[in-house]
Amino acid sequence: MRPGAILVAAALATAGCPSPGPAGDAAAGEHDGAGGARVVTGRRQLMGTDFEVSVATAGPEARAREAIEAALDAVAGVERRLSPHLDESDVSRVNAAAGAEPVRVSEETFSLLELSQQISERSAGAFDVTFAALVPVWRALRDQPPRLPTDQEIDAARALVGSRRLVLDRAAMTAYLPERGMALGLGAVGKGHGVDVGAEALIDRGVHDFIVGGGGDLVVRGTKHGTPWRLGIQHPRRRGELLGELTLDRDQAVATSGDYERFVEVGGVRYHHILDPRTGRPSQGCASVTLTGPDAALADALATAVFVLGPAEGMRLVERTPGVEALIVDEQLRVTMSAGLRGRVRLVE
Ligand code: ADP
Ligand code: MG
Repeated sequence: MRPGAILVAAALATAGCPSPGPAGDAAAGEHDGAGGARVVTGRRQLMGTDFEVSVATAGPEARAREAIEAALDAVAGVERRLSPHLDESDVSRVNAAAGAEPVRVSEETFSLLELSQQISERSAGAFDVTFAALVPVWRALRDQPPRLPTDQEIDAARALVGSRRLVLDRAAMTAYLPERGMALGLGAVGKGHGVDVGAEALIDRGVHDFIVGGGGDLVVRGTKHGTPWRLGIQHPRRRGELLGELTLDRDQAVATSGDYERFVEVGGVRYHHILDPRTGRPSQGCASVTLTGPDAALADALATAVFVLGPAEGMRLVERTPGVEALIVDEQLRVTMSAGLRGRVRLVE
């Protein structure tokens, strides 16, 4: 995984405190006790981050490797289909046709947009894939020296954000943005979906004990030779250090959103990459949100939603969503956990 990965798949550590950060080669095998039981790991740069697949197996390593490569290939397919950087992707075509006409998209894209719209509703607009209208305005942060957008620039872009205005027609399988300048961005849900697709590829090949991770989103299945998989939670202010460790005793997806991977400081203020559609500005209140749920696309989207809502309102959303738990670190580094996580998280002193 990339250095200081948001959620480190520290499950590979056999004992003691797992060490975060990039470990070893692009592909590594680890023997774990007797009888040929091992964890086989493969990594690839995909969707702008490091994807990592770890399989616990007592069988032939070559078979595990083949499944891992197939899973990574499946993620590469998602990347090609959803990338905003490719003109022919569904997202690019819908954006190019904003204010002009509905665009036919794949069932995969359509379902992700439907899920996204539902999460927008549930989070009162905190999560919103049409946030992307704000992206050009915040590019000013990349100027040298970084510049802050003006209130007028932000307000003009904010008027173009609104998931309710996204028209989805399942019968026609089309998506339509009714105003020029509106735009979709699947950055907060696409990687989770990629992880889900990678996990499905493993299951299709009869692999049952694994972790698929990419950019802080993971799917965990089975065990590591009978022991629950353990995950490290990155400390949001101490690079390369863990805040705690999460033990997963069943099949789960986990997603983390944080303000510490991508940000620019201007005048001592941290401007990070998660925007609050209600203000048009980087959200305030959370430093990181780690959320568990039934699948990674949902967990990814909800982690972003909770991050934007802030610790109090965010935890209320978690509590009223069945099958979902969260650990929230606020900007003062106070940690709160939903009831279902207590006993499964060990915080580092
Ligand atoms: P990361 O991508 O760092 O793992 P997230 O899953 O929270 O973290 O996704 C952040 C990305 O989501 C941003 O880079 C941006 O593309 C997109 N995004 C930012 N704000 C919002 C928002 N309010 N709703 C939906 N997507 C957002
Ligand atoms: Mg997300």
